[in-house]
Amino acid sequence: MVSKSKKPHFGHESMHTHSQSVEAAVVEQSKATAESILSSKGHDVISVRPTDTIHKVTEVMKEHGIGSVLVKDQNGHMVGILTERDIVRGFADEPDDTFDETAADLMTKEVITATPDTPLLDLLRSMSEGRFRHIPVLDGEHIAGLISIGDVVKFRLRELEYEALKLKQMIVG
Ligand code: AMP
Repeated sequence: MVSKSKKPHFGHESMHTHSQSVEAAVVEQSKATAESILSSKGHDVISVRPTDTIHKVTEVMKEHGIGSVLVKDQNGHMVGILTERDIVRGFADEPDDTFDETAADLMTKEVITATPDTPLLDLLRSMSEGRFRHIPVLDGEHIAGLISIGDVVKFRLRELEYEALKLKQMIVG
């Protein structure tokens, strides 16, 4: 079954929670977008087929040192996302059978996506509100990359280090 890819809901007018204001304080200076992060980490996305077994998926995750894969059909269309969390849940529910289940059995079909021009703060808000740590970036139909919360933190830390260095140079002359 082909799943719908929902556009992200990035409404900011509503009341901010405490964690949202913390995020805002951390990243409000950043002009970075999803594309800035992808330019730095790369555009490659590891994917599996809906019929691949969970055993195969764990091997793919181990080989690439990643915690999520996109699930794509034979035409290259994204039909879901599958992360470590889904596999842990699968083993808790069905300890004996999970390795033989398929990616389609455990994946999330309603995938929240971003676009290359989505601001960094909106990526974090989306992850925080949706309680997930990965967002595929779509440029029209094309899958432009996949951003994890670790990628966002790493990118922003580099930016902060660079800003601190610039300030230091201004002071020291
Ligand atoms: P994660 O925190 O990314 O490991 O994912 C937690 C749960 O959210 C898992 O059930 C994932 O399949 C799901 N998930 C991860 N990323 C997304 C996304 N971008 N859109 C919708 N669900 C997601």
